[in-house]
Amino acid sequence: MHIIRSTVQGYCPGVRRALELLESAQSEKLYTFGTLIHNPIIQQTLYSRGIVPLTLDNLPDLTGATVCIRAHGVAPSVILELRARGASIVDATCLRVKQNQCAALSLSSQSYCIVLAGDAAHDEIIGLRGYAPQAFIVEHISDVATIAHQLPQKTACIGQTTLDFKTFEAIAAEIRVYVPQLKVVDSICSATIARQQALECLCSHVDALLIIGGKSSANTVKLLTKARQQGKTAYLIESAQEIPQEIYHYATVGIASGASTPEYIIDDVEHTLKHTCH
Ligand code: SF4
Repeated sequence: MHIIRSTVQGYCPGVRRALELLESAQSEKLYTFGTLIHNPIIQQTLYSRGIVPLTLDNLPDLTGATVCIRAHGVAPSVILELRARGASIVDATCLRVKQNQCAALSLSSQSYCIVLAGDAAHDEIIGLRGYAPQAFIVEHISDVATIAHQLPQKTACIGQTTLDFKTFEAIAAEIRVYVPQLKVVDSICSATIARQQALECLCSHVDALLIIGGKSSANTVKLLTKARQQGKTAYLIESAQEIPQEIYHYATVGIASGASTPEYIIDDVEHTLKHTCH
């Protein structure tokens, strides 16, 4: 079997920064708000060190505790609630996400109607909506028609950072049919675009792919979707233990990974592929 790795692998800058900030936090009682990153193996490691994720439903007294805010960010009301309970905050919101939060706040204060393009249930969109509570959320192009009659000409569109760039452009183009003056915020993370482009390139050189990352990681799932859209057989796995037997039927296999997948898991998958006889 010939194995080709995507040229963009390992942690993205936002995930790396979040983990570094967590490690540098000085506190006897350390929590994260939500799961710090969407990778179950890393999350399990944090659990075993006693670093537990909090949700608004299970907040204890946080006097003397430190809470690290996840890379996806949170609504401002969450920070206020954590502080009210006595917590110190380490804000590991990715700087790219923060740009979108600032844009949402600024445009809302200028009376723009905001459309958020992304997954309504994703932590990033939930947090972003905290900066523009009246915002509409559009998950698919077909959703645009259902809100079009409520959109004024002074409307702005902001995307989830990990949205496929072409999907974001298509949603913006569809809104523009109803709102020609639409303001489109440059929202998609360049690290995400580079990873998606590297995957597209990889697809043209392989017969099948393994996409490595958390099954709840939005950017990882999008890589899987993109590979399949390119007509490739692709499997999403979280570790080498999940490598499907079918992959050994292919002569050339590509390896790509999501933004919260550590290098050692990628190396382990490659090593297992190379050294398993079939
Ligand atoms: S994918 Fe981009 S926006 Fe998301 S955490 Fe990484 S660097 Fe930040």
